[in-house]
Amino acid sequence: MASQHKEYDFYKVVQDYVDRAAKLVDLDPAVRTILGQPKNELIVNFPVVMDSGEVRLFKGYRVQHNNILGPYKGGMRFHPQVSLDDVKALAAMMTWKSALMRLPFGGGKGGIKFDPQSVSHGELKKITRRFTHALGENIGPEYDIPAPDVGTNAKIMGWMMDTYSNMVGSGDKQSVKGVVTGKSIACGGTLGREKATAQGMVFCLIEWAKENSFKFEGATMTVQGFGNVGSHFGVLLSKLGVSTIAVGDHSGYLSNPEGFNAHKLQDWVKQNGSIAGYPGGKPITREEFFATKTDVFAPCALENQIGEAEAASLNAKIVVEGANGPTNPGGERILLERNIAIIPDILANSGGVTVSYYEWVQNKRSEYWTAEEVDDRLEQAMKRAYGEVSDFARAKNCDQRMAAYSIALQRIEAVYREREIFP
Ligand code: NAD
Repeated sequence: MASQHKEYDFYKVVQDYVDRAAKLVDLDPAVRTILGQPKNELIVNFPVVMDSGEVRLFKGYRVQHNNILGPYKGGMRFHPQVSLDDVKALAAMMTWKSALMRLPFGGGKGGIKFDPQSVSHGELKKITRRFTHALGENIGPEYDIPAPDVGTNAKIMGWMMDTYSNMVGSGDKQSVKGVVTGKSIACGGTLGREKATAQGMVFCLIEWAKENSFKFEGATMTVQGFGNVGSHFGVLLSKLGVSTIAVGDHSGYLSNPEGFNAHKLQDWVKQNGSIAGYPGGKPITREEFFATKTDVFAPCALENQIGEAEAASLNAKIVVEGANGPTNPGGERILLERNIAIIPDILANSGGVTVSYYEWVQNKRSEYWTAEEVDDRLEQAMKRAYGEVSDFARAKNCDQRMAAYSIALQRIEAVYREREIFP
């Protein structure tokens, strides 16, 4: 079953996508070899004194996949299922995403294997700071730039930035703000970052809607995961007249045929940590959730959620992958056979890293852009990327995932062709 995470080889799945795309664009075999493994894989074990006085050892990861286009860039995940192989897969996907979006970044990813909801606020702060300290010079504003991912947020990014700035000389404190992105505005973050991933998904969906004469007003959507990405997607689409009729997260699934108030549900999750107990939703099973008739299905939780069974029961026009790797290859085959469109993760959710880039540029220049400026730039960037992927897919008669991978790989190949391999 797709939700059985452990047996799923996410890294191999991503490598298989690369192999297929490499064939499609006749990629230089040397480039394929280089991209087959990350440049660096770091594991740090660090102790933290818990509130009870007990000392607990935590395992943290940072995988730096590739930096030919710029500093390593990618999220930090705090989740009990974090593993080296999954982080490797996610780091590689960041390399493709940056290349696809023409950002001067490479790919990285990291995290800590623990449940952030199981510790106190003070413990979370200590864990974050000690992890950042353990990473030391392995991160940096010109070297490797973390951002939020599952289980992390702007508050945690603020702690990381503050810890890092306390590790550099006093003359450098102000210039290292860009060591992480996704910070709060007060800490030097950018307007528009919190909703950026969801906003990017919406811009892609608008392009797809134009191609397919799809009308937003009166349409329905279902969303798995109601955290940063999923909840903002619900809120943004509600402004286009789309109602969220079923939602799910780690606590379970709820339906409301009349449509949830996405704003209120978002506030509820911020207060309570999950959708559980939200008044106005009827509990349903995971199977019922996937089978709910809807127009837009947005997986915004974890990888490997849409397997063959879920794909066979899905009753949607389009899947917009907010999460990284939510559809497994078996699930994807069935969705494509059933003519259910997919906007693939490295395109659909790349608004997050794109606005992270805007934050990094603002930090470098000590600038503060308006929300409109951030949104306008993001809209242009997403439109261009969607257009390129859609054109490539039509020209080569392939699916959008293969098109997105192919475009990214060709851009990386072009740089290796010029720079060649050291020495
Ligand atoms: P988040 O921690 O804010 O939310 C995660 C959501 O997933 C929560 O609602 C949680 O309850 C749910 N979830 C966890 N385990 C689940 C399970 N077993 N079944 C169902 N739901 C489960 O994280 P987020 O930042 O919204 O990230 C969600 C996805 O989007 C991840 O795949 C992440 O890599 C991807 N993503 C995030 C960003 C970003 O900017 N935050 C950018 C690009 C991609």
